[in-house]
Amino acid sequence: MKVWVDDQRCRGHGMCLTLCPEVFSLTDDGYAVAVDSEVPADLESATHEAIQCCPEQAISEK
Ligand code: SF4
Repeated sequence: MKVWVDDQRCRGHGMCLTLCPEVFSLTDDGYAVAVDSEVPADLESATHEAIQCCPEQAISEK
């Protein structure tokens, strides 16, 4: 799977980083970005949890 963060929706709460810091990071502007590459299989569960827990529903699967 691959994921992306909609920067129009993200409000920088940081929930995704807490749940899966290997996939998500914060930019200098305080918004989240996801790794461009394929999410490793062992991180898919945590990534799905981040998708479901994002308060702004800003994370989608590509
Ligand atoms: S949890 Fe959602 S709103 Fe919060 S930083 Fe991550 S993508 Fe942005």
